[in-house]
Amino acid sequence: MSSILLSNVRLGLGGPRSDVLVTGDRVAAIGAAGSNTPEGGTDVIRFDDATLVPGFVDSHVHVEQWVRNLRSIDLGAAKSPREAAMLVRDGKRGAHLTWGQGIVPALWEQAPHKHFLDELVGDVPVAVSSIDLHTTWLSSAALDLVGMRDHPTGVLRETESIETKARLAAMMPVEELDAWIEESVATLPSLGVTGLTDLAYADNVEAWQRRSRGGAVPIRVRAGIWTAWLDAAIAAGHRSGRIVPGTHGRVQVGPYKIVSDGSLNTRTAWCVDPYPHPAEAGDACGLSLVPPGQLVELMGKAWAAGLEPAVHAIGDRANHEVLDAFARVGCAGRIEHAQLVSERDMPRFAELGVIASVQPQHAVTDRDVADRHWSGRTDRAYAYRSLHAAAARLELGSDAPVSPLDPRVAIADAVFRTGDDRPAWHPEQIIPLEVAFAAAGAGRRTVAVGEPADLVVIGGDPREYDRDALRTMPVLTTIVSGTLTHRAV
Ligand SMILES: [Zn+2]
Repeated sequence: MSSILLSNVRLGLGGPRSDVLVTGDRVAAIGAAGSNTPEGGTDVIRFDDATLVPGFVDSHVHVEQWVRNLRSIDLGAAKSPREAAMLVRDGKRGAHLTWGQGIVPALWEQAPHKHFLDELVGDVPVAVSSIDLHTTWLSSAALDLVGMRDHPTGVLRETESIETKARLAAMMPVEELDAWIEESVATLPSLGVTGLTDLAYADNVEAWQRRSRGGAVPIRVRAGIWTAWLDAAIAAGHRSGRIVPGTHGRVQVGPYKIVSDGSLNTRTAWCVDPYPHPAEAGDACGLSLVPPGQLVELMGKAWAAGLEPAVHAIGDRANHEVLDAFARVGCAGRIEHAQLVSERDMPRFAELGVIASVQPQHAVTDRDVADRHWSGRTDRAYAYRSLHAAAARLELGSDAPVSPLDPRVAIADAVFRTGDDRPAWHPEQIIPLEVAFAAAGAGRRTVAVGEPADLVVIGGDPREYDRDALRTMPVLTTIVSGTLTHRAV
């Protein structure tokens, strides 16, 4: 069995200088720095000023959309649909379809419409994703590709948006997509990432099996399952946590993903109070996408088959209903996002054993949208401190491509809550650095003997870092399952 000795690292934030021996896929021994005499064949990595922490796990990623967005036209700067269409016109065209991403229609005076794209780009298929992924805006040529020529606006929301985007994406050859994924995933160990949960709208178990054919992927993947694939997953005997055959032990069956409401940016997150400026008449409080009775039925069916639900809930009404559903089914699981939560629902996460899977980068990027569309209730929005104080287990994610896939930024945003020169947004909701690191490590607080060797060594002492230093903290070494995946020393 191969061994790696990490010599003279701080064991956790502010921990003692230690030697940590990794043998096979486990942490085999921990002693004071200098105490370990390595056997021959051990790969010894000596550090001068470094901190060892559990590897970072991004608990919420849409891998296919993430790699596609990295190769799409960035429209985040557009202040109107016309400006966005101009950026598309001037951007780089795709071979079959041109993708744009990052629009924030919640801050636009004018709604997007297919005619803006048609006027400026002509008969070119264009698909534009909103920053929150809940809206897709298509040109007439793109609508043609999916047989929706007569769509009145070309602007799709929620389920229709997800499904149409998946159909357009499926027109790209799978080999090309997998090559993009391989290339992008290969960069993750340099950010300290040892694992992620893939919630792409796809048959993720099959996809990661395919992507593992050439060898082990350099991170652990939990492959999420959507309702469209639920029956097949149950029939195949997939259970959350089980290793997927043919993946060199790196891929596990992930959670069962359900989307219960919309999003803040699309003003479809299901809330107790009405939006001051609803996106569409009739949706004053947002949208419930799965009626509560059906939610219980689906969660119960998945849980009975060993699949743990991960339920997207953003508005306070949605969070309340989903917590009720967890109580009724009597199962453990996760709420994805938990962006607006009523005070009385905060303790229910811990009581019910529901993990709060949160994305601190959203708190930073959404602050203006939240101040506008959730005015008067932002004291309990992205309320990580309140959730932590109520004993909820927090796990961090990026929701990439909604936010960049970089756990260092997620940690910095959780402990500074600002991304620019403005003071922290609701500083009372800042969480301590140790809590943020544990949440970034999927709940692992320390490195201990016998644990899986998914580790990251950070240069210096993160406790001394300001926001920008934390966002870019140097990753010196990353180890997944006892295998070096990144080494910068
Ligand atoms: Zn998501």
